[in-house]
Amino acid sequence: MQVTAVYPGSFDPITNGHLDIISRGVRLFDRIIVALLRNEDKAPLLPLSERIEIVRSVVSRYPSVTVDSFDGLLVDYARARGAQAIVRGLRALSDFEYEFQMALMNRRLEPGVETVFMMPSEGYSYVSSHLVKEVVRLGGDVTGLVPVEAIERLKARYASTGPG
Ligand code: ADP
Repeated sequence: MQVTAVYPGSFDPITNGHLDIISRGVRLFDRIIVALLRNEDKAPLLPLSERIEIVRSVVSRYPSVTVDSFDGLLVDYARARGAQAIVRGLRALSDFEYEFQMALMNRRLEPGVETVFMMPSEGYSYVSSHLVKEVVRLGGDVTGLVPVEAIERLKARYASTGPG
């Protein structure tokens, strides 16, 4: 059986922590669909098209990984794409409560899709898109924590909007 996993998220922007999870997932799943949430209620800094471009360029080295976007219920999207698994990353205990609730709700909505939690390398356990944006906004260096493509986009965005 071919196993397809959806890795959903905002990826605003994708970090090396996300990429670490993807590189581990590539060894487990036949296909991974990185699915960016279209919901603008989350007020992302980078527009969806830019977030997708960055993810596409950094996962191009993995032939089994594709990039897409979705809105509505994640389980509906997973079912429509024929996925058996949802991948989520767990960095610390603080991620656990929310992720646990989501996983159980998704299981109730669609018992045929299993949520799989993966831990990144400990060197990325403190990295979040939110913190990275904050550091770049204030002029700090995030080299090694985020792909260069993402750093450039963030800098360009803050240069056009000001540091806020
Ligand atoms: P969301 O808005 O759905 O939380 P994110 O893009 O912030 O989207 O995160 C997507 C997934 O990746 C989540 O499961 C999150 O816990 C995980 N994740 C985020 N940062 C890291 C990291 N540094 N290492 C491992 N997993 C991470």
